[in-house]
Amino acid sequence: MLALAGYPLGFEFLFLDPATDACASSLGEQIRADYSDEKALAEFCGRVDVATYEFENVPVASAEFVAARVPLRPHPPALLAGQDRISEKKLFERLGIAVPPYAAVSSRNDLIAAVEQLGLPLILKTRRLGYDGKGQARIRQIADIEIAWKQLGEHPLIAEALVPFEREVSCIGVRGIDGQLAFYPLIENVHRNGILHTSRPVLDDPLHEPATHSVKAVMEHVGYVGVMAFEFFVADGRLLGNEIAPRVHNSGHWTIEGAQTSQFENHLRAISGLPLGSTALRGNSLMVNFIGDTQSLGTLAAKRNLHIHLYGKTPKPLRKIGHATLLAESAAELGELEKLLFA
Ligand code: AMP
Repeated sequence: MLALAGYPLGFEFLFLDPATDACASSLGEQIRADYSDEKALAEFCGRVDVATYEFENVPVASAEFVAARVPLRPHPPALLAGQDRISEKKLFERLGIAVPPYAAVSSRNDLIAAVEQLGLPLILKTRRLGYDGKGQARIRQIADIEIAWKQLGEHPLIAEALVPFEREVSCIGVRGIDGQLAFYPLIENVHRNGILHTSRPVLDDPLHEPATHSVKAVMEHVGYVGVMAFEFFVADGRLLGNEIAPRVHNSGHWTIEGAQTSQFENHLRAISGLPLGSTALRGNSLMVNFIGDTQSLGTLAAKRNLHIHLYGKTPKPLRKIGHATLLAESAAELGELEKLLFA
């Protein structure tokens, strides 16, 4: 999606991806190599003017290797900031951003102490490399402790109080090389089984302003350049910081049709030193992910105002293989279309 947004701007792309079925390979040349393959990284660096990533688990050592040869935006400290859930939470706290109660867990005894300290229910997560609900287990009763420990105990972990949230929201911001900032309207997200299901921008949400302050604080602290997403829980009307993603984000896919400038174009503008584009809305939109299959596609395709994106991924249970965005002129029309979509 970055490349699709960049070709009209006259950019050319070279992709480095270890996957044999990389989505981007149909859009430009792919160097198929592991992220830690220094020969491949050196070749890649020799052929590009600027580098970026859209996967937060790129090893920091590889990012540093690239950054020593070619401008890498966002730079390695920004990547590092979100890779470990404990240091990420500590960073939020240092910046005055509220977080759910949590504890580090590296032994069974730590887990029992965390249950005593935080109470039940709680959620146990791997500190690193988790996404889309992977590497997570919920502990609702004492009997779940052993099950969760067996599932995840070999990794360094974080235990978090399970927040009885009213909503989940994300704030997507973009920061230019010169420090210029822009934010999309606050986005409301619905997850199913830990995987994003729908996202919608909300105009004039009272939490937009405080959310942008948190994004700005993190961006300025780490010297960020590019698009960043910050996910929050809303509990008792207040924001609690969950995690940041140092990249374009699934909850911003609606911006392709629903904003004046998509998050992908704005990321490219930021990392290449162009002025940022307007983040204003173009109508009312709602994004829905296709998870595992496109079963609903036949009916969805028949619906008006639906923009379908398929990523060329092999369908697998719980894998995001595409998304669609509903676009309507008014909130009332969007509500009507939404009823049809989920009928
Ligand atoms: P994460 O990978 O941390 O974004 O977690 C995936 C999803 O699991 C979140 O979007 C929430 O729906 C849920 N979740 C994660 N952590 C918590 C928590 N501390 N309290 C309540 N729900 C959570």
